[in-house]
Amino acid sequence: MAFDPLAPLRADPGAGAVLLDVDGTLAPIAPHPDRSAVPATTLATLARLARRYALVACVSGRAARDAGRLVPVDGVVVIGNHGLELLAGGEARWASGVERWLPAVRAAADALGPIALEAGGWVEDKGATLTVHVREAPDPDRARALLEERGLPVIAAQGLAWRWGRMALEARPPLDIDKGSAVRALVASRPAVARSLYAGDDLTDLDALRAVDVGVAVRSDETPPELLAAATLVVEGPAALADLLAGLAVDSA
Ligand SMILES: [Mg+2]
Repeated sequence: MAFDPLAPLRADPGAGAVLLDVDGTLAPIAPHPDRSAVPATTLATLARLARRYALVACVSGRAARDAGRLVPVDGVVVIGNHGLELLAGGEARWASGVERWLPAVRAAADALGPIALEAGGWVEDKGATLTVHVREAPDPDRARALLEERGLPVIAAQGLAWRWGRMALEARPPLDIDKGSAVRALVASRPAVARSLYAGDDLTDLDALRAVDVGVAVRSDETPPELLAAATLVVEGPAALADLLAGLAVDSA
């Protein structure tokens, strides 16, 4: 019988961590992030997982409060802004070193507004980071070219780092914090955790996928090949991931 990489997790949930991206992983991709939702059955599964496993966490690119709104499940830890922000007791807290970069992010968001508009996109100011969304742009290639030519210099002028996401350009403080470091710190803070799983769909999930024992890539038409290559398992979209999670929430045979 083939080795099931999920078996060790299922066999000892008290020593297991389940860490999950939100958009494109738990929630199907929507044309606008305001319209994203995690299906009710998936939320019910997360609640069951949170009661069984040593750690269940969502690690999102959204602001922590926004990610928490999408995953309103007791016992699920919420990390936002790719690791720069933690939601604790309903309050969002910046990771160390983030606060002094907030004015630069705000300035870049303001300056990028008109450029994003011209590209057919819009800027989401998430406090510690910003995202220029071009999913709804009439000509995505032109939008990307415009952002490369005029958007990147604006970001660089504020001393911020940047990367491309799914139909989006993200800018952030040049700090050594990403989803991978966030996952490592969270797991290290829970001594009971011996095995960990992370599931994600985007390039920003690659660091986290490499920080765990079982990396799950959630495939779509836009999944970066690097993520598929780094994954222990590949599932076809959020619905298939929900099935995998439901399987983790039941007693092992
Ligand atoms: Mg995602």
